[in-house]
Amino acid sequence: MKFLRVAIDVPLPQLFDYRCDEAATEDIGCRVLVPFGRKKVVGVIVEVVARSDHSADKLRSAERILRDVLPLSAEWIELARFCSGYYQRSLGEVMLAALPPRLRNARPLRATKQKSDDDAARPAAPPFVERHRLTAEQLRAIDSISASAQAFGVFLLFGVTGSGKTEVYLRLIAGVLARGAQALVLVPEIALTPALQTAFRERFPGATIVVQHSAMAEGARARGWIEAQSGSAQIVLGTRLAVFAPLPRLGLLVVDEEQDPSFKQQESLRYSARDVAIVRARAAGIPIVLCSATPSLESWRHAQAGRYALLRLSRRARADSALPEVRMVDTRTDASRDGISGPLAQAIGERLARSEQTLIFLNRRGYAPVLSCAKCGWISGCKRCSARLVVHLKDRELRCHHCGDAARIPRACPECGNLDLQPVGRGTQRLEASLAERFPRARILRMDRDTVRHRGSLEAMFARIEAGEADILVGTQILAKGHHFENLTLVGVVDADAGLYAADYRAPERMFAQLEQVSGRAGRAGVPGEVILQTRYPNHPLYQALVRHDFEGYAQILLDERRQAEFPPYVFEAALRAEALGIDVALGFLRAAATRAPSERDGVTVYDPSPMMLERLAGRARAQLIVQAHSRVRLQLFLREWRAELASIRAPAVRWHLDVDPTEF
Ligand SMILES: [Zn+2]
Ligand SMILES: [Zn+2]
Repeated sequence: MKFLRVAIDVPLPQLFDYRCDEAATEDIGCRVLVPFGRKKVVGVIVEVVARSDHSADKLRSAERILRDVLPLSAEWIELARFCSGYYQRSLGEVMLAALPPRLRNARPLRATKQKSDDDAARPAAPPFVERHRLTAEQLRAIDSISASAQAFGVFLLFGVTGSGKTEVYLRLIAGVLARGAQALVLVPEIALTPALQTAFRERFPGATIVVQHSAMAEGARARGWIEAQSGSAQIVLGTRLAVFAPLPRLGLLVVDEEQDPSFKQQESLRYSARDVAIVRARAAGIPIVLCSATPSLESWRHAQAGRYALLRLSRRARADSALPEVRMVDTRTDASRDGISGPLAQAIGERLARSEQTLIFLNRRGYAPVLSCAKCGWISGCKRCSARLVVHLKDRELRCHHCGDAARIPRACPECGNLDLQPVGRGTQRLEASLAERFPRARILRMDRDTVRHRGSLEAMFARIEAGEADILVGTQILAKGHHFENLTLVGVVDADAGLYAADYRAPERMFAQLEQVSGRAGRAGVPGEVILQTRYPNHPLYQALVRHDFEGYAQILLDERRQAEFPPYVFEAALRAEALGIDVALGFLRAAATRAPSERDGVTVYDPSPMMLERLAGRARAQLIVQAHSRVRLQLFLREWRAELASIRAPAVRWHLDVDPTEF
């Protein structure tokens, strides 16, 4: 008699045994349909054994082994095991979360491979076109990484915006493909994948390039997965979830914009794709390249300590292109009308006269962040979240950007009946309106999540900008990343100050990265760029560093602060979070959890529970408890022991989870 040991998507640590006489060891890594409770679920076969610890007549039989897709490799299962241990989730939870949704059910995939876009659109062209001359720094970077092509190593490619980081990894990938190996490239934003995909197609016209991200149709994503797994795809390009793509001949890993917060998943399996990618590269014995103009403080510190190889690209790749000049406008003296100060308005006017483009950056979508009654002080709050409802004037709606709730804009104050309700503050829609008033003949294009919600519309907008169909772009961080526009010579940053004094200790790091990134959009094609930053705090070290494009200096300031305050990367953290209808219930659970923390806690600090910054979200109260340790290993041992205890706390009204290396509080 044979037995399967199956990983199932439930928060229980063990594997589940099933009888299955038709099973062979080749079935390890296959999906399998099994009865579980009163349901049938898809799990993954982790072992095929001749004996079970349970008596055979008590075990149920597996329904059927799903052999329509190749089994997951031993390496893949090992990676899932690592994530299971590190992120404190069951192996089944990890495996099923890592699989494309289409493979989480038992419906067989049609065997005939459907013709994908990649096949249809692939032109026959010469294999590799020499198009760019490389700078000495680019060549040095390529040489050092290529020199250790067959060994594990983390390379931090630290290059100013426009320095040609992409060109470096494209060259490396060419080398990987020439050896018959596969490359995996992770990017932070779904919106970036089409442009990058085009660049890859042009560069590697003969290669099969597979894209993996969460907005894809299920069938296409599963097909891409299968192409990667069979080895027929040479390049996989995707967002964080692509880190789990099965690649039997993986030769190189690239994480572009490695500092980007989106690499950390904030729900279900809370993993950091960058960190998992490093683990994966180590297991495969291959190099991994982390690219950034503003590396995360974690990576920067590793590079400083010599654990990562630091490769600098200190100048822009084009000899005729310099970094933009950053100028500050003190809004305490240069009062701004409608958010646009005199100097910024003048600079925009000059660009319009020269037919050059301007980008106005404001990382807040909607018309205004809140609606208020001046008479009684009422403000528009979300009923379900501790957040304000944002005014979306065009749709006549108030919307919660946290839970998605929406309501009509009230005609009168719900408290006192006052008819004169005022939108307070400024979002991209309002900025767009004031720019239209100031520059009535300018063609203004707003780009934020509201305007690019529809698939493909971001690309359409990029095309319009490149075709010169817009004079002024108004947008959020969606505009800050990746894409560059040849004719854009001015970037205006309005209302950035809000981020300076945020409670989250990571806020300044993120803000610097974002502003450096958006500044880098200016003046890339032989026309010098200018950045105008409106602020009430022109002497703030963050802005001072930005003027000098001095990431290194500012990183040192932040690292010193973190060391003194004992924050990551000098300590390792985990958060235990609880959600319930009332905050007292959530806090009560966390207090009970604290009393059950392992007593052997040498070097581990358990802090008092506290409500989260966004205390209510979608009708639930949220609290957390932070655990800190100076050693990652100590923290892991502590968490493993603690998790077993947590499962035994009776708290049916509480949902809880552990988040290892949390980035949101
Ligand atoms: Zn009122
Ligand atoms: Zn809400």
